[in-house]
Amino acid sequence: MKSITHHHNQALREVYQAIRGKKLQYHISTFGCQMNDHDSEKMAGLLETMGYTYTADETAADLILFNTCAVRENAELRVFGNIGRMKPLKAAKPELIVGVCGCMMQQDHMKHAIKDKYSYVDLVFGTHNLSALPDYVRRVLLEKERVVEIIADGSIVEGLPVVRNLDVKAFVTIMQGCDNFCSYCIVPYTRGREKSRTPEAILEEIEGLVEQGIKEVTLLGQNVNSYGKGLVPAIDFADLLHRVNAIEGLERIRFMTSHPKDLTDRLIEAMTLDKVMPTIHLPAQSGSDKILQAMNRKYTKADYLGLVDKLRQMIPDIAITSDLIIGFPGETEEDVDDTIDLIRRVEFDAAFTFIYSPRVGTPAAGLPDETSERTKHERFDRMLAVLNEIVIAKHKAREGRVFEVLIEGKQERSAAYQGRTKQDFLVTFSAKPEDIGQLRPVRITKARKFSLEGELV
Ligand code: SF4
Repeated sequence: MKSITHHHNQALREVYQAIRGKKLQYHISTFGCQMNDHDSEKMAGLLETMGYTYTADETAADLILFNTCAVRENAELRVFGNIGRMKPLKAAKPELIVGVCGCMMQQDHMKHAIKDKYSYVDLVFGTHNLSALPDYVRRVLLEKERVVEIIADGSIVEGLPVVRNLDVKAFVTIMQGCDNFCSYCIVPYTRGREKSRTPEAILEEIEGLVEQGIKEVTLLGQNVNSYGKGLVPAIDFADLLHRVNAIEGLERIRFMTSHPKDLTDRLIEAMTLDKVMPTIHLPAQSGSDKILQAMNRKYTKADYLGLVDKLRQMIPDIAITSDLIIGFPGETEEDVDDTIDLIRRVEFDAAFTFIYSPRVGTPAAGLPDETSERTKHERFDRMLAVLNEIVIAKHKAREGRVFEVLIEGKQERSAAYQGRTKQDFLVTFSAKPEDIGQLRPVRITKARKFSLEGELV
């Protein structure tokens, strides 16, 4: 582990000197997951330390970064489309700096595509060298260089400034990378092997956040359940939760993502700690043992159902959410039935649903796939109808109940305030500015499609 290096500090100062008084603005577009959101917060922190200020208006920006994600469907097309939009902006304002970064850039074909076809992109870098951003900006801005730098794997850099988007809650990365190699997933190739931050660094960061008024942290990693691998002295995720739970002034702890194969009894027990929220995002992906094996997930449908039973036994009011994929190569009607059966038996509180699409460079991309797109869409709709019915019924059943809500702030386009229950359900209600950051009971008056309406009790 190392701190932000002397070299980067030097670059940061040089950029600061060069742009001082010029009122330069930056804009970051983030695609994909919470890891990416958090990386964007770190880049925002670095840019603001360099002297840039944020603008929501792309056309007003002097530096635009696209933080890309390789995981979601149609991600590549969306990124190309967005970068394409930069061409006229750059023509009108040649000094505009356009950068593309994130995990999609860790893939060779994407790096080359951007480098060769989009000459107006000044800066390309990956997920392992985000801390070098000051040096890249310095080279583009002051040396008029075009910078393309992707490194295969890196160590964790501690001590980067971070600009957080919310005043009462924050994300804290506890580990990077993934060792699981699910056959459809690009993450182990783009984010590299699992590396855990030391508990000391994590606790220090959270204590600092609590001092700034943060009430809730979400511990982030691709597979937080295997936190601690390789650290000396030995520590696992359950231990870490105990230590974070002991931080005075912190009210709520969440974490994501959990891998079912690593969800131990010890960890479920740690989830009963007072500050650990009763919610888990536990991606099932499929309910068919055949497909789970082809996906290299290392658990069966019965294993998954067993975990859900244990969770509900230990934490009765827990919310369980999931990711589900339809259309994996070789999936039959019966496999989809198995997934639908899993949905009915678990009764998920919410789920992200995807139609499988191959990612270049993953083992599953080489599998024969004879199912037509049309059939996949029909199966997807069949699954979604069942899922929606369950999710909406559970949502409706919350009307009249009282939940403890952490009040996050006022909504942008309305007079309503918003907050989240322990289970992470979004609730809107009327409140006062001084209520922000408070934990308050809220009675649910109406279930809307994606949120709940309520009133302070
Ligand atoms: S656990 Fe599987 S799906 Fe999740 S990041 Fe690792 S390889 Fe990808």
